[in-house]
Amino acid sequence: MAKTISAPRGTRDLLPEETAAWSHVEAVARDLSRRYALERIEIPLFERVELFARGLGESSDAVEKEMFRVAGAKGSEEEAAPWALRPEPTAGIARAFIEHGMHVRPGPLRLTMIGPMFRYDRPQAGRYRQFVQWDVEVIGDAGPAVDAELIELGHRFYAEAGLRDVVARINSIGDSTCRPAYRDALIAYFSEHAGRLGPDSARRLHVNPLRVLDDKTLPDDLAAGAPRGIDHLCDACREHFDGLRGLLDALGVRYEVDHRLVRGLDYYTRTAFEYYVAGREGQQQALGGGGRYDGLIELLGGRPTPGIGFGLGLDRTILALEEAGWTPPAGQALVAVLGAGDDHGRRLAIAAELRATGIAVRPDGSTRKLGKQIESAAKAGAAWALIVGEDGALALRDLERGEQRDSVTLGEVRAAISG
Ligand code: AMP
Repeated sequence: MAKTISAPRGTRDLLPEETAAWSHVEAVARDLSRRYALERIEIPLFERVELFARGLGESSDAVEKEMFRVAGAKGSEEEAAPWALRPEPTAGIARAFIEHGMHVRPGPLRLTMIGPMFRYDRPQAGRYRQFVQWDVEVIGDAGPAVDAELIELGHRFYAEAGLRDVVARINSIGDSTCRPAYRDALIAYFSEHAGRLGPDSARRLHVNPLRVLDDKTLPDDLAAGAPRGIDHLCDACREHFDGLRGLLDALGVRYEVDHRLVRGLDYYTRTAFEYYVAGREGQQQALGGGGRYDGLIELLGGRPTPGIGFGLGLDRTILALEEAGWTPPAGQALVAVLGAGDDHGRRLAIAAELRATGIAVRPDGSTRKLGKQIESAAKAGAAWALIVGEDGALALRDLERGEQRDSVTLGEVRAAISG
C-alpha cells in the first residue's frame, strides 16, 4: 500500500461527530451578529507581510515569531512574495476600510466575520497553527459606550454558547498622550530588575516594555510591584476608562481589572480586554480578547478613525464547552426511505417530496435484504424507516419502539414525524 499522508502539524480535521459543537457555536455567533446589528465582511486569507508588520508591530509575537509566510508559484514573479496568512483579521479589515473609502459610509461601521487565522506557533492543547475566530469590529466610534457594548456582547456569546462562568478582564493602556510616560516608568522599573527577566522580556524591554507585563515567566512579586497602566492615564483616557467601568457595572457584566493585561499587538490604545473561564485565569489561555485601536487606520495610511474589536477563539470555546460536559441538543428526526423491491426511482421521489416539506431524509440506495436496510438505518441515527413495498404501498416503522403502521399516506407520514 502507498505511504499515507497526514494533516500538517497544528491543524485539525473536524470529523462529523465533532462538528455539532462547531455548528452550535457558529449559530450563536451569527444570531448575535444579527441582534447586535453587525454586517458581514470578508477579507483575504493572506495579505502583504508589510500590513501585519506595520499594523501589528514588528515586535509582536504574531509578526516576530509566528508569521506563516506564503510564496507564489515556482518561477513566478511572486515566488518569494512577502505575503503571510492572516494571524488576525483587524489589520486586513482596516486595510479594506481604507482601500474602499469606507469612511464615507454612514458610521460607525459595525462589522463581523467568522474564519480561520494562522500562526506559526508551537502546537499544543488550545494552540493550533490554524484556528477559527469570531471577529467583531466597530469602526468610527471613540466610545466608551461602544466598548461596553462589545465587552457585553462577548460575555453574552459565551453565556448563550453554554459557558455560564466566563469573566471579562479589562485594562486601559492609555494613548499616545500618556503611554510614553507609562513606557518610561516600566523601563525604569524593569531595568532595576533586569537580571530577573526572561530572555524575551530582556530583549523587548526597550522596544515594547508593556509586553514584559504579559510575559508568563515574569515572577509574581516583580509583576505585582510594576507601575500600573491606570495610574498613568491622562485625563481623557482616565475619563474613558471610568466611563467604561460605569457602563459595565450598569449592564451587570462580570469583569475584573487586570493590570497585567496589555494585549500582544502594538495597535491597541485605551481599552484592552480578554475573557477567561472564571477561576482559571492564571492557568489557562484566554478564550478571546480584543481592544481599542484608535491609531491603526492612520498608521496604515487612512484618515484618523477610532475603532474597537474583538476576536473570540472558537476552538478554545469548544474545548471549554467539552470540558463543561456540553452535549449537542437532539437533532431533527431523520427518516430513512428503504424498500424491498428495486424501484429506486420511487424511493428517491418520495425522499424528494418529504425533503420539500423540510424533513431530513436518507434514502437507501442498496438492494440488500429489508432487515439489513432497517438495521443500517437505525445505526445511522434514523428515527423512522419509511418502507416502500413491492406493490408501492408505504409502511412507517418507528425504529426506537419497533412499531410499524402499514398503508400510510405521505400526509400521515409527515404528521407522525412532526408530532
Ligand atoms: P489573541 O489576539 O492572540 O489574543 O487571540 C484572540 C483569541 O484567538 C484567543 O483568545 C484564542 O481564543 C484564539 N487564538 C489565538 N491564537 C490561537 C491559537 N494558536 N490556537 C487556537 N486559538 C488561538
